[in-house]
Amino acid sequence: MAISVACVGGRAAYDLLIAGAFVAERLGSQPTPFGPSQPIFRCKSPRGEFYFLSRHGERGYELTPSYVNYRANVYALKGLGVRNVISWSETRGISHNFKIGQYVVVDDLIDETRNRPTTFFENRGIGHLRTWPVFCPSVRAALTETLQVEECEFESHGVYVCVEGPRHETPAETRKYAEYGGELLGQALVPEVFLARELQMCYASLCYVARYAEDGTNYRPFEDGRALPVEVEQARARAAVERIPRILERFLDVLPRTNVSCACETAMSPHIALGELGPDWRTWFAPDGGGKTA
Ligand SMILES: [Zn+2]
Repeated sequence: MAISVACVGGRAAYDLLIAGAFVAERLGSQPTPFGPSQPIFRCKSPRGEFYFLSRHGERGYELTPSYVNYRANVYALKGLGVRNVISWSETRGISHNFKIGQYVVVDDLIDETRNRPTTFFENRGIGHLRTWPVFCPSVRAALTETLQVEECEFESHGVYVCVEGPRHETPAETRKYAEYGGELLGQALVPEVFLARELQMCYASLCYVARYAEDGTNYRPFEDGRALPVEVEQARARAAVERIPRILERFLDVLPRTNVSCACETAMSPHIALGELGPDWRTWFAPDGGGKTA
């Protein structure tokens, strides 16, 4: 049976993979019309199989976010038959209403990236897609239920600000993002989420709060009337990462039972109806560049 779920993760998730958290077979990089993807792993768990793609490569932080080939990665997963993508993402909290180590199933985002290709359809008049809901409601619902079942501390809403990086934000930028309504800050979800929609895939992100965004002070968050020690903060972030395998396994169980519907699989239907794209997505990027059925 085709594997329908993939997890795109960062360095922390990849470190867990190579430490043996999953039984994984390395399929390697996949060729795509947009260049080679990052290596993909086929992972086995007692509740089913899923693919794992390490966004930043296999040797530490080999690729910074600006240089990740997002199009190749998303295309490669689609080519393997993936329908549902979970993006596992470390964030920094702009809002202190989130706790360090807490999970957040984000539901909106602000794109502050500057140097990334944002579409598969460059200059082809295609891709004027509505971006609400920003993330797939079906995968979000399954993630939320998974976190409930696993008794994790989480928030089911959050506004993610995607910045270019790799540098961290300045204090003034943190204040600006807060003014915009941004609540969490990271470097990973754009353009992945938008590219996934262009290939009619379901995509949602499970974020966790690793630390707070820069505020230009040495302020420490308080809990129970005293400053939270750095070691406690680090231990909580580490614990959030270490639960990845359990959460992924449970998610495989929960997703097929989710009764929240979505329209992700028909996102490009207006273009298909107009004959601008063929019914088979693989023809969309044919060497003739047309992708037209007419
Ligand atoms: Zn969906």
